[in-house]
Amino acid sequence: MSTPTKTAIVTGAARGIGAGVARRLAADGMAVAVIDLDEVACKPVVEQIQAAGGRAIAVGADVADEAAVTGAVERVVAELGAPTVLVNNAGVIRDNLLFRMTTDDWDTVMNVHLRGAFLMTRAVQKYMTEAKFGRIVNLSSTSALGNRGQANYAAAKAGVQGFTKTLAFELGKFGVTANAIAPGFIETEMTAATAARVGIPFEDFKAGAAKEIPVARTGVPEDIAHAVSFFASEGAGFVSGQVLYVAGGPKA
Ligand code: NAP
Repeated sequence: MSTPTKTAIVTGAARGIGAGVARRLAADGMAVAVIDLDEVACKPVVEQIQAAGGRAIAVGADVADEAAVTGAVERVVAELGAPTVLVNNAGVIRDNLLFRMTTDDWDTVMNVHLRGAFLMTRAVQKYMTEAKFGRIVNLSSTSALGNRGQANYAAAKAGVQGFTKTLAFELGKFGVTANAIAPGFIETEMTAATAARVGIPFEDFKAGAAKEIPVARTGVPEDIAHAVSFFASEGAGFVSGQVLYVAGGPKA
């Protein structure tokens, strides 16, 4: 008897790490809901997955909006089936030194990373507990250890780790694992935006970062997708509440 297709949700999947994760989980045989703020922006990733023989849908939703999250998850259930894999990847940065950081900078980052992960996970957990199987993977960051100019982001990404460990305690007995991945420098529009903010060409910015990384290169979305694929696999059922630093070296 063949294993039924699993349904995965990846948030912030129109580009960057989320797009890489969506493509990888589809290649692993899952049906994938590609969720991002703008549904149209998700379509190229869906088309790439379909062109490779996989199954995917584009869903527009703001993960920080409770009604939008409920609607998105209902659509996924109706169109792809009950989701048992959730990757909370959607993210934003609003970097500034503390004395210049606005309340809006703080709230926006908290809302997307923490409220977003909470709303998505709460909406999806019942399908996982009913199935007695679930895999939750949350995107933290090496910035969780503290990073100049990122008081908001560092606090959110450290919060993601506490959230993940608590999910592991609460959901373990239902066959649901929760783990976090803390990437180092990954080449995406997010790191390109940081380079632009500090006024350094992206290639120079990457070369500078690579000098500090033991494996002597910056990361790509596929590096993170590979780790997500492991945590999402059936065989990883005894691995829960962990934070894996995927940073080209021993960052933690
Ligand atoms: P990215 O290229 O900026 O992509 C993030 C995606 O999330 C964008 O498509 C963005 O949509 C979407 N998004 C933002 N707010 C959202 C919301 N409220 N609801 C739904 N989608 C939303 O970022 P990335 O570099 O791939 O990062 C992905 C995750 O990894 C983030 O959680 C980030 O913090 C984390 N991370 C990244 C790095 C790195 O070096 N790149 C390192 C550590 C951790 P819009 O384009 O419409 O804004």
